[in-house]
Amino acid sequence: MPIEQEYLDRHPGSRALYERASRVLPSGVTHDSRYLRPFPIYADRAEGACKWDVDGHRYIDYVVGHGALLLGHNHPAVTAAAAAQLARGTHYGASHLREIEWAEEVTRLVPAAEVVRFTSSGTEATLMALRLARAATGRPGVIKFERHFHGWHDYVVPASSYAGRTPPGIPSATLESVLVLPPDLAAVESAFAARDDIGAVIVEAAGASSGQVPLPRGFLHGLAEICRRRGAVFIMDEVVTGFRWAPGGVQEVEGVCPDLVTLAKILAGGFPGGAVAGRRDLLEYLQFPGAGPKTEKVGHPGTFNANPLSAAAGVACLREIADGTHQRRAAELAASLRSGMNAVLCELGIPGVVYGQSSAFRVLLAGTMVPEAQDYNGRELPRALLETPMPPERARLLQLALLNRGVQLFGTGGMLSSAHTAADIDATLEAWRAALLDLRA
Ligand code: PLP
Repeated sequence: MPIEQEYLDRHPGSRALYERASRVLPSGVTHDSRYLRPFPIYADRAEGACKWDVDGHRYIDYVVGHGALLLGHNHPAVTAAAAAQLARGTHYGASHLREIEWAEEVTRLVPAAEVVRFTSSGTEATLMALRLARAATGRPGVIKFERHFHGWHDYVVPASSYAGRTPPGIPSATLESVLVLPPDLAAVESAFAARDDIGAVIVEAAGASSGQVPLPRGFLHGLAEICRRRGAVFIMDEVVTGFRWAPGGVQEVEGVCPDLVTLAKILAGGFPGGAVAGRRDLLEYLQFPGAGPKTEKVGHPGTFNANPLSAAAGVACLREIADGTHQRRAAELAASLRSGMNAVLCELGIPGVVYGQSSAFRVLLAGTMVPEAQDYNGRELPRALLETPMPPERARLLQLALLNRGVQLFGTGGMLSSAHTAADIDATLEAWRAALLDLRA
């Protein structure tokens, strides 16, 4: 049966909910990446590495809360902490012990984090990091890198998705203040030589889109050195990689210390939350005049900053993942998933490759390469191939075919949790083989 017809037949409940959603939600969804034609699945519940939809189908989940759930769904330590907090109140509108503990855990784990300010999301964290950088340097210009994702505020809107057109709704003055460069140190040097208004450089710590285009070796160290020499603030965005690549993120793995780091996702154990952390003298711009050395203050209200529920879940989660065991387990499983998926591509003679770093992976059914039955982190692959988007219709049908077989990707990739098992990997490989045959039919 054609893939889409099977999908329609299997998901009457999701289809009905999507029709209802489309009357009140633009495109029926609440996050751009959850959009899928003819309709997305509607989740009913989740546990460990799996979720179930409203039609009763079980999925091995590679979305894992957009990467927030390193421990999988409903980890007992996190659930217990959140439930205990729920019984004590969800919003005090006051300072509380958990926010101190939460900041202490962040400063314990993340090398660059001398001081922390909590936000409600990763987007707010990158917005605040850029504002602090401007306040400290007095220079409005920002360097970001092609395809690097930092959320959806005006300064980091992913212009690449607009193919040269101006993204609607963004003031041109804002766009002009942001220089988008390839991840190339010579390009960064030239930009600093040409402009004297650059106050910040922001980079996704593992490369574009959670490491889909890995950074050249030594790039982060080079960037840190240029920023130091030029007096610009070096911001590592570790919203995805923070607590996942290692307890201290990419900065721990690579031994590089940014001026500021942005965090979210795992930080709050599956609840909403983000943070900007880093050098004390930079975060001092948030202090009230008189309470610190700065005479001017950067404003930062936010109704849900360090919300007690997020803080309680975050503290429990960060304590659980502090020794690196969960990260290692998820990364080992991801490596066996990537090499297993490549073995299937190789056996079926299908061009493409599955690759990724740490516990992340990307499926790329494009180009002409038929992979070896092995793991690739992306650095060994031609850059032009990594920058090739998967043809959108093929990507869509692959997602539908895998959903029909009980596997949910996050776009055309995903992340693992420590709740995934070897049996989940075997089942995914079986689904992968069947989905590829469906695609070929
Ligand atoms: N930075 C990176 C690297 C991200 O991947 C994301 C979200 O996926 C963000 C920032 C934005 O975080 P949020 O979705 O919490 O606003």
